Parts: sequence; C-alpha cells; structure tokens
Amino acid sequence: MRTSYSALNTYKTCPLKFKYQEIDRIKVPKGKEAVFGTTIHSALHYMFTHEPLYPSLDQVLDFFGKKWMEAQEKVTLEAKEAEAYHNQGATLLSSFYKKNQPWNFHVLDMESRFEVFLEDPDTKESHVVAGVIDRIDKIGDNHYEIIDYKTSRRMPAQAQLDTDLQMSVYHLGLLHKWPHLEAENIKLSLHFLKHGEKISTARSNDALKETRTQVLSTLREIKRRIAKDDFPPTPSALCDWCGYRSLCPMWRHLYQDEKSKIKNEQELAPLVQEYIALKASSQQNKLRLRELQAKIEDFMTSEKLERVFSDNAYLTRRNREKPVYDVERVRSILTAAGKWDAILKADERKLEAIVKTLPSETQEQLREAITDIKRFTILTLSKKKVTRGLDGAEEDTRS
Ligand code: SF4
Repeated sequence: MRTSYSALNTYKTCPLKFKYQEIDRIKVPKGKEAVFGTTIHSALHYMFTHEPLYPSLDQVLDFFGKKWMEAQEKVTLEAKEAEAYHNQGATLLSSFYKKNQPWNFHVLDMESRFEVFLEDPDTKESHVVAGVIDRIDKIGDNHYEIIDYKTSRRMPAQAQLDTDLQMSVYHLGLLHKWPHLEAENIKLSLHFLKHGEKISTARSNDALKETRTQVLSTLREIKRRIAKDDFPPTPSALCDWCGYRSLCPMWRHLYQDEKSKIKNEQELAPLVQEYIALKASSQQNKLRLRELQAKIEDFMTSEKLERVFSDNAYLTRRNREKPVYDVERVRSILTAAGKWDAILKADERKLEAIVKTLPSETQEQLREAITDIKRFTILTLSKKKVTRGLDGAEEDTRS
C-alpha cells in the first residue's frame, strides 16, 4: 500500500473520513483555516529562501498579502473575516520574523519530501509511507532539527508529543532520506505560530522499531477494514472542519437538501421530538428522584425507620453489601479449587483502556486475539443547537 502520514493521521481520527478521502477520492473544498494555514506555510517558506539575500520583513508581509488575496478565490469569506485573517497572519509572521531572523538558522531543506519503505514481516507485503517535513535545520555538528509549523492553537502536552506518531514518522522519514544521520541526534519540534512557542522531543534508535510496528499495525487495520468495507464514522471536535459532513451519516440529516431525500421524514420528525422530550424529562426525574431519596433517607434515619408508607404504597430501605476481596488471595484459593477460570472474565472496558497504554506489538497480539465483535446501539441525547457551518476555529491539515 502507498500512503502518506497525513492519510494515516486521518484514519486515526476518523476511518470514514479516510475512506471518503483516500479510497473514494471524493474531493471537497478546503476550509478557511486550512487555506490560511497553507498561505502562512508558503510565506514561511519564502522567508527562509535567500536568493541571494533573505527577504526583509516587509517583503515577507507583502508576499503573504498577495498569497492571501489569491487564496481567497478558494474559500468563501466575508470581507471582514478575510481582513481579520490577514491581520492575524501579518501579526503572526511579524512576531515570528523578529524572534527567528532567517539568517540565524542553517536551513538544510524546506517542504522536504520523504518516503519510508516498510515490509510486513507476516504478510511480506511492501508499503510506502510518504510525507513532507516543513523545515530541516542543522543545529550543530551532526545534530539536526525537524520543524513542523502549526497554525492551530491547541498545544499537546509534552508526554503526548513524546509518543506522537507524526514526530515518529518524520524521524523515520528523515533517517530514510539521509541514512548517515544518527537517530539520537535529531531534534523534533512543533512550532505553534499563534503562540510563538516551540515544543520539542526526540526519539531513540530503539523507538524506530516501535514506529515501524505502529505504522504496520495501522496499515494492517486499514486492510482489514477495506476487506470488510467497514469504516465507521468517529465524530469528534474535528468534524467542525470536515468537508464530508453533508455525506457523513453522523451529520447528513442536518442538511436540508439531504433531509428531503429521506423516506418518511414526516414520520421521523415527531418520533425524534418525542424521544428527546421524554429523555429530557426522564433525566430531570432521575435528578429529582435522587434529591427525594436523600431527603426521605434523612427523615428515616432521624426517625429510626426503615419503611415509610403513603396511602397506596410504601418505601423500604434495604442495606446492600458488596464485599471487597484481596484479589491475590482469592486467586490462589480459587485456583486451588479449580474455579478461577470459571469466574475470570475480562472486563472489556478496562481491557480497552489498558490496551492503549501497551506497546504496539502487544496491541497487535491482542487485536489478533479478537474472535468476534459484538455490535449494539445506544441513542445518546445531546442538548445543543447545531448549525451546518464548518470551520469551527482552526485546523492544521498539513502533514
Ligand atoms: S464529519 Fe466527522 S464523523 Fe463524519 S467523516 Fe467527517 S470527521 Fe468523520
């Protein structure tokens, strides 16, 4: 399979979006944040290009202004909004330029393409993962830095960055591109332009094996999904920037033209309304029941009663006890009695939570131990008004 880091990232955030984008190849226009991000990236590329001199800040701002004008043809924006984006871009570039004067850096490459070749040891299949690194600097003798610019606001925690797949794949990509570099001598940085903050991490030589395993495991998972044509939608905050909302089963019903295509829409609407009203009142009832229970129990305790009566019913307070065992002692007693296996049943929720913390190889082994997937549905009620607007705030769509 040939894929890119950004496609793998899309798969991780939503398998259905991956299918629309990478398998069905459905083209959707870019959102305004993505277009803004691309324009900023091209201005930064220009900033570090010296032919023969580096451009001045004014030249960079002029370049950005022109690119932003061109970019507006790709996205619908109100004049005020376009101006706000322009001002934000100019501020962000000015502040970046002042703190990072281009002549102070030894830039080796920009928009640097890489390809990582992987062979699955089990299936012997070959895969290629491609990507583009924003900037590669030399930062000392045999020391290098990969820099990825982010126009998003949300900065990950250091612990998250230390295991971040994008950084790991870029690390692997650079070592494939320039095999003479040493894994430990590569600094991996994300530069958050809106905050003027750079956070960095590194990967050891041993981490390369883990990255390969992680990528291969994701590729295997994708192949399994292709075989079953099973790409579930995975709604998250990122849906606000997804161009496939009018196709996606999670959002399609919000779109009027799609609504008119739904059979029996007239019948569905009152059912949904009634369900929501009942659910809301049952939630209120639950809260009120809890309040009443606490008050009645207080009364019972103070009056030393365990049962209270109304005209046609009564309430009884019963004490329930739930023993807390010493698991190790129980295990040895029941193992000796040959009963341990009978009571041992994995708690799926706990298992799911633990799986995420295990090394990829162990995760893969556990995945292979899945014999069946039980499917069930629940209806959850979210009380908020949703509009069709996209581009909630920001997205960094670059790989
Ligand atoms: S709208 Fe959300 S759930 Fe639907 S495809 Fe896009 S990211 Fe996935």
